[in-house]
This record gives sequence, C-alpha cells and structure tokens, in this order.
Amino acid sequence: MSAPSASRSGIDDEQLRPSATAAKAREPMNVLIVGVGGQGVIMVSKALAWLAQSKGFEVKQSEVHGMAKRGGTVFSHVRFGPQVWSPTIPKGEADILVALEWAEGLRWLPFLKPDTGIFICDTKRIVPPFACLNRRPGAPLRYSRETPAEVKAHVAEGYAIDATRMAEELGNERAANVVLIGALSTVLDFPAADWELALSAFVPKKTIAVNLDAFRLGRNWIDAARRTTTVAPEAGAPAANIPAPALVAYSVRLEITPQWCKSCDICVKLCPERCLRLNDERIVELAQPERCTGCRLCELLCPDFAIRVHLDAVANNAAAAQGATA
Ligand code: SF4
Ligand code: SF4
Repeated sequence: MSAPSASRSGIDDEQLRPSATAAKAREPMNVLIVGVGGQGVIMVSKALAWLAQSKGFEVKQSEVHGMAKRGGTVFSHVRFGPQVWSPTIPKGEADILVALEWAEGLRWLPFLKPDTGIFICDTKRIVPPFACLNRRPGAPLRYSRETPAEVKAHVAEGYAIDATRMAEELGNERAANVVLIGALSTVLDFPAADWELALSAFVPKKTIAVNLDAFRLGRNWIDAARRTTTVAPEAGAPAANIPAPALVAYSVRLEITPQWCKSCDICVKLCPERCLRLNDERIVELAQPERCTGCRLCELLCPDFAIRVHLDAVANNAAAAQGATA
C-alpha cells in the first residue's frame, strides 16, 4: 500500500520501525492481531508469542475468541519486552496492527500508535449478515467504504495485502494468515529462519510446506511494496488502487458439501429469503438462487459446516447499480 512513513519524512526506516531489539532496550512491543472466527488469529499470536519467548523476552498474550468458527470478532494482544506488566494493549499504543479481515482492521485502527504504528491488513472481506439488510441480491453491501489510499493517510505505515488470494494461489486459502505473518516478520527483528521454526511448530504437519511458501510470499510482498512506488507492480504485488471493498459488485455462489449435511433443517428455516430447501434425499439445496442475497446466515448457522457462501467480485459494476436501484 504505502511507502513507509519514515521514507516520506526523510528519516531512515530503521529509526522508526519497531524492532525486537528496540523493545529489549525500552518499552514492550505491542502487537495487536485481529480478524474473525476461523481465520487463524490465535495461531498468529501464539507463533509470535512463542518466538518472542524463545528469544528471552517476557511475553504476555491475551485473546478473545468466543465466536471462533462462527464469524465473530477474534482478537489477540501480544506484548513482549524486558518486563511486561499488563496483558492488554491500551488504545493508541499498538506498534503493529495485523488484521486478517479488512473491516476488522479498520475497526481497530484507533489502537495503533498515531505517529509510528504499522498497519498490515488483508483486503479479504468477510461480510456479516447485517450488511445484507437491503435484501436485494447483488446490491452494494453495507460494508466499510474506505479505500486503502484513504486508510494510508491515517497511518504512519500501512500495507493492504490480498493475502487470501495469494494463499489460494498456493493451493490453501487457510494459509492467508501465514502470508500476513510473513509481512509481520519484516517489521520485527527476529531472523526469518526462527519465524519458520515457529511456524513449523504451530501449523499442521502436512501443511508445513505450503505455509512456509506463504510466509516467504508475505515477506517478498512487503519487499516489493517498498520498491514499487515508481515501478508498476507485478502480479501478486501490492496494488495502490485497490477499490473500496463495498463498491465492488458481487455475485453469490453457495458451496454445499452434501456429505456433511445432517438434514437438520436449521438453514432452511432461518434463511431470511426462504431460498433453501431439503431435496428428496433430505440434503439442503439452493432452490431459488435469484433470491439469495449472500447474507451468509446459512453458513454461520449450519452446525456441520456444510455450506460456504462465496461473494465473487464481478467485473462490471452495473450489476451492483441495478441491484441498488431495483
Ligand atoms: S441461502 Fe444463505 S446466504 Fe442466501 S439468503 Fe439464504 S441464508 Fe442468506
Ligand atoms: S444447517 Fe447444515 S446440516 Fe442443517 S440442513 Fe442446513 S446444511 Fe444441512
């Protein structure tokens, strides 16, 4: 997203960038990690806490994850330094804010240090059901409209990364959080090899290879971001002009895993548009796709994770405009 503010002010980047070394010398380093349930916020914070502890820092970590796997807000405070008294980061005191979801990132911005705070955010949108209250399929969502460029103006150093897409291209969407760890690793002084060691300890064994690839992708992405103020970004490189997520027209796609559906009927009864039904084999199906708003209630309520709702961005905004005026 942006070049480091230090460059803009003519001061060497290293003078402003928070670092493990700096934390050792003075105040605790405050890292706030936020997202929604199921994105792997806690794994990011555990890997960081483990790494900091292995380097001899005192570490305090606190988290709230009551709605994990159900789309609720999840956040974790990680503080490390020579001595740490409180486990929570006061407002305006976070050195680094890592957000796994765009709107969650914006919501927590007041916690970032205004002059030196670093904002690292996935542009991934996870739209909550109340964003679809207009009940018009394809209508623009009630979702944050700030563009990365606007956010950049409010932070000392900021990066908006399409980490989820990068992880998908690696073959594992769930590695998006590790792409962000790669980005985070560039603003702390721990050696890359130690990060990789920490990751290998915290991800499932069979996914170590893809997660290490994701980690390196995140690191390289930041390097490219710092170089591309004058150079056109390559594929996967940072885009300075990512559109405001809410302004992107979308189409809804339901992914149903029939073998996981236990015919409980919950989604059928609670879909606000009544567009689901159980078929002859008592497996859920989308009976009236034209009525589906993509509100995601079915996905959030299904106890067996049998439904996933995809909001696919479409190239032409005419669909959104039509939805808005229908
Ligand atoms: S099918 Fe799911 S996403 Fe579509 S309107 Fe119903 S509850 Fe919402
Ligand atoms: S809530 Fe889940 S398990 Fe129940 S009918 Fe719907 S898809 Fe099947």
